[in-house]
Amino acid sequence: MYRLFWPAVACGLLLSALGIVPLPYIGAPLLGLLIYRAGVATLGSLRRGASFVPTGTPHPVDARTERTVYWCSGCGAELLLLVRGTETPPRHCGERMTERHEVARELS
Ligand SMILES: [Zn+2]
Repeated sequence: MYRLFWPAVACGLLLSALGIVPLPYIGAPLLGLLIYRAGVATLGSLRRGASFVPTGTPHPVDARTERTVYWCSGCGAELLLLVRGTETPPRHCGERMTERHEVARELS
């Protein structure tokens, strides 16, 4: 569908410019395609946002070698990651949290 959008626009404008088809008969379907494409893009961004549910099994994090902390810039809350479900950082106060990796220090 996405690959056909710009060729359809070009064909419509060409047919209209050549006078084969009147502009209102070309403009209305193209406007409909544009509205449809904007709607799909908006819903796709919502899917990738807060409503995104990861698939796959979560992986436990080895706290001896890796310490990952998420920090909220809105309220200052910090979360320690114990089990990684996805690479996407969690949200807090409506924003993505900042990920910070801390390297474990060798004890001698
Ligand atoms: Zn917060």
